[in-house]
Amino acid sequence: MNDKCKKIMECLSDYLDGEMSEELCEMVEKHVKECEECMCFVDGLKTTVQCLQSLPADKIPENIEKSVLENLKKILFE
Ligand SMILES: [Zn+2]
Repeated sequence: MNDKCKKIMECLSDYLDGEMSEELCEMVEKHVKECEECMCFVDGLKTTVQCLQSLPADKIPENIEKSVLENLKKILFE
C-alpha cells in the first residue's frame, strides 16, 4: 500500500459521513476509480455501513460505524 492509499483511507471516515470537503471528496473518488485496492475497501465499507443503517436504530450499539471502520483499518494496516 502506498502513501496515497494510506492518506485516502484516513479520509474515508469523513467521506462516508458526508463531512468531507468537496475537494477531498473528489480526490478520494478519483483515486478510488484508479486504485483497485482502495475501491474494494470503499465498497466493503459502504456495504457494511448500509447494513448497519438498515437495522432498527435501537439495535445498533453506539459508535459501531466508527469501530467497524477502526477494525477495517487494522485489517489493512497491521
Ligand atoms: Zn489506493
